[in-house]
Amino acid sequence: MTAPGLAAYAADESRSEGRRYEEPKTVYRGEYQRDRDRIIHSTAFRRLVYKTQVFVNHEGDLYRTRLTHSIEVAQIGRTVALALGLNEPLTEAICLAHDLGHTPFGHAGQDTLNECMREYGGFEHNLQSLRVVDFLEAKYADFPGLNLMFETREGILKHCSVRNARELGSIGERFLKRQQPGLEAQIANISDAIAYNNHDVDDGFRAGLITLDQLREQSLFGAQYDEVHERYPELEDRRLIYEIIRRMINTVVTDLIDQTRSNLDDVAPASIDEVRLADGPLVAMSKTVFDQHVSLKKFLNHYLYQHEKKLEMTAKVQSILKDLFARYMADVESMPTEFSSAAANKEEAVRARVVADYIAGMTDRFAIAEHERIAG
Ligand code: MG
Repeated sequence: MTAPGLAAYAADESRSEGRRYEEPKTVYRGEYQRDRDRIIHSTAFRRLVYKTQVFVNHEGDLYRTRLTHSIEVAQIGRTVALALGLNEPLTEAICLAHDLGHTPFGHAGQDTLNECMREYGGFEHNLQSLRVVDFLEAKYADFPGLNLMFETREGILKHCSVRNARELGSIGERFLKRQQPGLEAQIANISDAIAYNNHDVDDGFRAGLITLDQLREQSLFGAQYDEVHERYPELEDRRLIYEIIRRMINTVVTDLIDQTRSNLDDVAPASIDEVRLADGPLVAMSKTVFDQHVSLKKFLNHYLYQHEKKLEMTAKVQSILKDLFARYMADVESMPTEFSSAAANKEEAVRARVVADYIAGMTDRFAIAEHERIAG
């Protein structure tokens, strides 16, 4: 029996592999609701407010941070999940947790830490998000981490190398068998892309890195621009942009729901296990909208992420994180006790992983302050 209100192919806690450590049920909350609540109460979640999404936190108060990004992802994900009869609390939990393993300073931070860890198994932010919820959060008396449900962990581990998958047990199996995750995880994944494509238009325009004329050449933006401009010819640019963005999100999300519904009708999975065995992801946009979405993504990648202002920042970030890594490797005692005791007298690779865990957990401003402190 599927829980009321849920489609047959939705994740259902009564048929889940459950938690790594068994726990008694609560009276008023379902298991995925508990997962979402644990994520919101976690230390890693609170730190997202001071972690860079694209723009470094101190560049301005109005830009997205990883926290506001994650909330926007969850908002989109919940809409899609509800419309398709899927598990909304699970979708929300995965969306809110999807960036918990991100380093300070956005992608520049992640690339630098990966470089520092090259000889010790590398650094992947998806895998790190799973480490955060499985091991690094220390809040409960009976178990390490947050002890989340299988489907929540499955959704958080969006990508994983085959080598790492082999060491992860049941949660890594789908990467070895080339299977899909549940639909709620697929929604979280695509909601992430929809959220950043849209908020980066807003943030990039505010930062002066992209102009209205450039944006109008993007068909997703251009079509909405023409409609809004015709109806409100006097609208000032700031409100114009907001009006266009909300219409873009609505267009893409509606297309995503319609196309996914049609995919589900075609494949007709009878359970989440049949979703996992499908040839590819069933949550998808139509080809037309997907192409427009990808084109906008490439445009933003070129003008925002590769911009020289960001590149200059990247060089600074590299030196901060490399210095911190070298210092902690040479002197584990300069980390707080919970990390220094885990690293003391351990072989180099274990020590490096502890150092990476410590650095990955830092906020932008803490990393900067800590760098100033050790540099004297
Ligand atoms: Mg994200």
